[in-house]
Amino acid sequence: MNNSFLPFSKPTIDEATIASVADTLRSGWITSGPKVIEFEKQLSAYFGGRPVRTFNSGTCTMEIALRIAGIGAGDEVITTPISWMATSNVILEVGATPVFADIDPVTRNIDLDLVEAAITPKTRAIIPVYLAGRPLDMDRLYAIAAKYKLRVIEDAAQAIGSTWRGRPIGSFGDFVSFSFQANKNITTSEGGCLVLNTPEEVVLAEKYRLQGVTRSGWDGIDVDVLGGKYNMTDIAAAIGLGQFSHLDDITSHRRALAQHYFKVLGPDFEARTGAQLPPAEFENTNWHLFQIVLPDTITRAQFMERMKAFNIGVGFHYAPIHLFTLYRELGFKEGMFPIAEHVGRQIVSLPMYYSLTKADVERTCAAMLAVLG
Ligand SMILES: *Cc1c(COP(=O)(O)O)cnc(C)c1O
Repeated sequence: MNNSFLPFSKPTIDEATIASVADTLRSGWITSGPKVIEFEKQLSAYFGGRPVRTFNSGTCTMEIALRIAGIGAGDEVITTPISWMATSNVILEVGATPVFADIDPVTRNIDLDLVEAAITPKTRAIIPVYLAGRPLDMDRLYAIAAKYKLRVIEDAAQAIGSTWRGRPIGSFGDFVSFSFQANKNITTSEGGCLVLNTPEEVVLAEKYRLQGVTRSGWDGIDVDVLGGKYNMTDIAAAIGLGQFSHLDDITSHRRALAQHYFKVLGPDFEARTGAQLPPAEFENTNWHLFQIVLPDTITRAQFMERMKAFNIGVGFHYAPIHLFTLYRELGFKEGMFPIAEHVGRQIVSLPMYYSLTKADVERTCAAMLAVLG
């Protein structure tokens, strides 16, 4: 039996992509240029013709969306405690106030009833997160946004390839932010993109992306908003183009692996172990992660250590944001979001990536059944 180390995530870069990166390096143009423009064009076509701009992360995309929406001091933005801290750090970054709403224990995504309950006269936006690539009830999300006149900045960092009622996430809605960080379903090593609504928003996105600069004529240059340094390089875009050409394959492979996890673990897995599986949904979710919530009879650290003894890497996505020191200093504390706190303590991510095989899934399941007894 093959016992090589299985990480929980691993990028797959094909030879054509490596050759394209080498060509870019030799081309004499290695920063933002023709590859970025081509990548944005292809992404825009995929997102139903909506305007798209690329950036050097899937964090600055959200910060820039907040700035474009004019959200800042005195404004409240509702989000989930179960995400990478980037999701709420950007709210603080623009001077606004993060307001957390607890998650749904089944989907592990923000609970839309609690979102609605958290809305105040100061609420300006919602940042939903599609954990593991699993979308929310998008109809309900946008009904709430319309009813209370809120902007939505979708943290779709994990959701490229996911759909809602047959339409790709990103092809409808308000601002939609994606990450191409190394662990995501498609990568540019580091990077991200933002789907926008109007030509005016595109102009602002481009300014915020590069020092607030606008150019005109041969030597006209001006700065009228405070931008940063967030542009994607052509080297990254060349990786992205190569990855993007495999998106459908990547998504269907991940769905097949997820189905295999369910099949191998069997219908009595939860009853036998006390662990909780993710929803068995194979139409909309891109299966960015395969996550289970451990029973309280084992700590996550124990589980990770015992899986490591089988040479299997386990990740955790995520520890609850509101319990980080920075957020405790803002007044958040234990007990405020009990479902997020429980899930955040016991959730683990099992191996899931394009080059993972069904045999690897079987090995992982066997190890897990041994560990959870
Ligand atoms: C990866 C990720 C981010 C951040 O993306 P970067 O490209 O690393 O900045 C934000 N939110 C979620 C949910 C993520 O998974």
